[in-house]
Amino acid sequence: MELTVGSTRLVAHRIFCIGRNYAAHAAELGNALPREPVVFMKPATSLVALGAPLPLPRGRGPLHHEAEVVLLVGRDAQELAPERALEVLVGVTLGLDLTLRAEQDRLKAAGQPWELAKAFDHGAPLGAFVAAEGLDLAALPFECRVGGALRQQGNTRDLLFPVATIVAFLSRRWRLLPGDLVFTGTPSGVGPLVPGDEVVIESPLIGRFAWRCG
Ligand code: ZN
Repeated sequence: MELTVGSTRLVAHRIFCIGRNYAAHAAELGNALPREPVVFMKPATSLVALGAPLPLPRGRGPLHHEAEVVLLVGRDAQELAPERALEVLVGVTLGLDLTLRAEQDRLKAAGQPWELAKAFDHGAPLGAFVAAEGLDLAALPFECRVGGALRQQGNTRDLLFPVATIVAFLSRRWRLLPGDLVFTGTPSGVGPLVPGDEVVIESPLIGRFAWRCG
């Protein structure tokens, strides 16, 4: 998928996702607070563009919305210090880290990787980007509504591992490349989506993005 920020065009590369990065969400799923960022990945093929259909997986248990702030890396970088980490970000938007919750519970209990619950087709709806420059990434409010009802309300000031810490952490384990995306974690209030639902993620500083579940 092509990603646009102003005049910059990038092809979506990897999707890094951070789990358990808001204390209230870790608690609602009964998880301990992590000592270092919990990282998993989704394939770029799981991205769903604005306006594209959002077919939900059938017969695999409840599908939960996880509204998240999403970062777009604009250049090559590795071994970043946290104080330089924000310089590699070119864009910011909101996205949904869709999760097959019962499947994830089963995998967690069995000590198995999460891909079946996280990395499926259409598992990562993505909003439109705004420029990262000038945005205070340590104080970004956002929310998620389903059928008009408020489900999630978050602010990046509540991140256990702030944006700069996450990007620096990732850059010490991977060489970051233009087109890499980072889903930064979800606040509490995750819940199910069913066919026919309209899911909306919105921030006054980023925009309003909606999908109709099929
Ligand atoms: Zn998530």
